[in-house]
Amino acid sequence: MAEVLVYVDHVDGDVRKPTLELLTLARRLGDPVAVHLGVGATAAAEVLAAHGAVRVLAADAAEFADYLVAPKVDALQAAVAAVSPEAVLLPSSAEAKEIAARLAVRIGSGIITDAVDVTAGDDGPVATQSVFAAAFTTTSRVTQGTPVITVKPNSVTPEAASAAGTLETLDVSFGPLATGTRVVSRSPRESTGRPELTEAAIVVSGGRGVNGAENFALIEALADSLGAAVGASRAAVDAGWYPHTSQVGQTGKTVSPQLYLAVGISGAIQHRAGMQTSKTIVAVNKDAEAPIFELVDYGVVGDLFDVVPALTEEVRARKG
Ligand code: FAD
Repeated sequence: MAEVLVYVDHVDGDVRKPTLELLTLARRLGDPVAVHLGVGATAAAEVLAAHGAVRVLAADAAEFADYLVAPKVDALQAAVAAVSPEAVLLPSSAEAKEIAARLAVRIGSGIITDAVDVTAGDDGPVATQSVFAAAFTTTSRVTQGTPVITVKPNSVTPEAASAAGTLETLDVSFGPLATGTRVVSRSPRESTGRPELTEAAIVVSGGRGVNGAENFALIEALADSLGAAVGASRAAVDAGWYPHTSQVGQTGKTVSPQLYLAVGISGAIQHRAGMQTSKTIVAVNKDAEAPIFELVDYGVVGDLFDVVPALTEEVRARKG
């Protein structure tokens, strides 16, 4: 059976959920072969095997941590040469998309980014994208070389599937470009304890209707009751109520969670561009004519200062 390379996104061997989603998609196309770069391959291999990886190609070198993406491109290129895969799947993170683009250029392949689904087709993998602020859904196929496809987080639910996950060493020799851009310092972002916005299964976002930085505590409390990430509209970010890293939309982050709650957000096209592919959309807005209600699955017309605390209480009560 054909093999499909899956680039492993991990933190010191702790495999992140989007990789498990890629393994689930890869199994539709062939046998998943995971590529793990950096430390922690042994721990990662167990998780990868439990999600269908038949092999785990691992390489560790200081270059992966000390330099920007080029060493990882060298490694993936070596993996492509060793495996001759049916496709290469990567998550749609900023870093992985850069790796994907460089890899596609190196191996002379077509690339599809930000897919929301991947299926097997008669002439190779077919990727689905949601484009133009999710106004259109397109399906495309790479017609040249080994398809390189990046997939948005939460596009599929990861499914466990036991496989061998045999750990093998990937031999990598770094090219002259690998050490072109050195990482000179790192400062970890202060953790909120909440899930990463672009990967969260549930996102609760607040907009101008929240009316002040201090009132975002209401949004955070609802998010915490649901185990959700917190997002914000540009109006809320521009007002200085919430950091730009939490902005959802055209000039912010694109999220595609199972559940998106828009609170005090009107639903401008630029906001929709970042959340319209969410599976279930719920809005709380006091204006029944707000455009957000055109795209919701459930809408609550009401004052957020009444609705949100009541909803938080109800969620907490039901969770016991
Ligand atoms: P508003 O449009 O002011 O809506 C606030 C809503 O809150 C209203 O519907 C109101 O009825 C409701 N409300 C008020 N009080 C309450 C209450 N007590 N209870 C319940 N509801 C209440 N926007 C983004 O979000 N993300 C982007 O990435 C982005 N990029 C942009 C890029 C460009 C080039 C441009 C031009 C604009 C961009 N915008 C973006 C801005 C976008 O056009 C809107 O201005 C913005 O999304 C509005 O934010 P909002 O919905 O929070 O505010």
